[in-house]
Amino acid sequence: MKIEDLQSIAKTFSSPVYVYDADKISSQYQRLTNAFANVPHLRINYAMKALSNLSILKLMKKLGAGLDTVSIQEVQLGLRAGFAPSQIIFTPNGVSMNEIEEAMQLGVQLNIDNLSFLEQFGSKHPEVPVCIRINPHVMAGGNANISVGHIDSKFGISIHQIPHILRIVENTKMHINGIHMHTGSDILDIDVFLYAAEILFETAKHFKDLQFIDFGSGFKVPYKEGDIQTNIEELGERLSSRFLEFCKEYGRDLTLAFEPGKFLVSQAGYFLVKVNVIKQTTSTVFAAVDSGFNHLIRPMFYGATHYIENISNPQGRKRFYSVVGYVCETDTFASNKQIAEITEGDILCFHNAGAYCYTMASNYNSRLRPAEVLWINNEAKLIRKAESFDDLLRNQIEIDV
Ligand SMILES: *Cc1c(COP(=O)(O)O)cnc(C)c1O
Repeated sequence: MKIEDLQSIAKTFSSPVYVYDADKISSQYQRLTNAFANVPHLRINYAMKALSNLSILKLMKKLGAGLDTVSIQEVQLGLRAGFAPSQIIFTPNGVSMNEIEEAMQLGVQLNIDNLSFLEQFGSKHPEVPVCIRINPHVMAGGNANISVGHIDSKFGISIHQIPHILRIVENTKMHINGIHMHTGSDILDIDVFLYAAEILFETAKHFKDLQFIDFGSGFKVPYKEGDIQTNIEELGERLSSRFLEFCKEYGRDLTLAFEPGKFLVSQAGYFLVKVNVIKQTTSTVFAAVDSGFNHLIRPMFYGATHYIENISNPQGRKRFYSVVGYVCETDTFASNKQIAEITEGDILCFHNAGAYCYTMASNYNSRLRPAEVLWINNEAKLIRKAESFDDLLRNQIEIDV
C-alpha cells in the first residue's frame, strides 16, 4: 500500500490506529508456499498469537492456511473464524490437563510438550492421536528471550528423553501422528536449521504411524535497513529435497508443516500515531506520541527496532529524534533516529507492526486499545473498533467500601 493510503486512513479513522495490508499477507504466504512447491503435502499453520483479529484469520483461511494455537481461547477464535477442527493444531505450554481435554473435545490436533501429560493423556485417551513437541536443543538466533530450543528452555520434550517417550507410548498404546519442533524465532543459518531437521528425522523413525512433521517457525523478517532475513527460497530448496528423501526412507508420504506468525504478518502491519508534543531538552529532541507500550511493547520488551517514518512530511529534512510514548513510565520507542522533520500534529508510522503488536496491547494507564483497519481490494475496512470508556468499566464490580 502507498503512503497516501496510510495518510488517508489516519484522517478517516484518526490515531492511533493499526493498519494491515492484505496483499502483503497474501504475497508472504505465496512466497512460502512457492519455496516448498515440490512438497506434495505442505501445511502452513498460521501462528495466530502474532495477530488474532477474526478478519485476519478469515484471510488466512482463504489463502489456504491452517492455524497454530496456544490457548483454548485461540482455538475457539479459530473455530469462530470458520476453520475446521482438523485445520487447527493446539501447541500449548504449561496449560492444565483440563484445557488440553477441552481442545480434544473440540476435535483439534493436540501437540503435547511434556512427559507428565503425555503419560496421563495416553493412559486416559489412547485412541486420540497426538503430536509430540521435541526440543532438539539447537540454538537458533541470538536473543535468549526468543530462542526456545536451547537446553534451559521450558518448551518441548528433550531429545534425550526419547527413550522415556517410547516407553510411555508402548505402555499406553497411544497413537503418535506427528513430531514437532519450534526452535526459536530466528532462522538465519540454514545449516543450523537443517541440522535440527535431521534430529527430527531421526526421532521420527521411532514412530510408525506419523502423518506429519512440523518444523515450527523462526522465519526472520527484516525490521530495519540492513537486517538479514531468512533465505526462504534456499531453505525451501534444501529442506524440501531432504524431506522427500526422508519420506522415501520412512516409506510414506508425510505432510511437511510450518507454523509461521511473524513471517506472514509482520511487514503487512503499520501503526499510525500522532505527535502530541515536540520537547527539546538540553541533550535531545523528544517526539512524544499519542501511544505508548500499552499499544506497542516490542521495543521496550525485546529491544525490537521498528522503523519510524513521518508520513506527514515524508520528504522533509532529516533530524535526530527520540520517539517516546505518553505512558507515565519510561517508554522509549526509539532513540537518536533520523526522521524527516517533525511538527506537532504530524502522523508517524511504525513499520513491521503486524506481528506481536496489537496482540500484546494492554490498558495500562487506563488507556484504550486502538482500532484495527484492513487494507483490502484498495479499500480501508474497519476490523476492530477502538475501545471506549465502557470497555474499561466492563467486568468491574463496584462494592461499597
Ligand atoms: C510463537 C510460535 C510460533 C510463531 O513464531 P514466529 O516467530 O512468529 O514465526 C510458531 N510456533 C509456536 C509453537 C509458537 O509458540
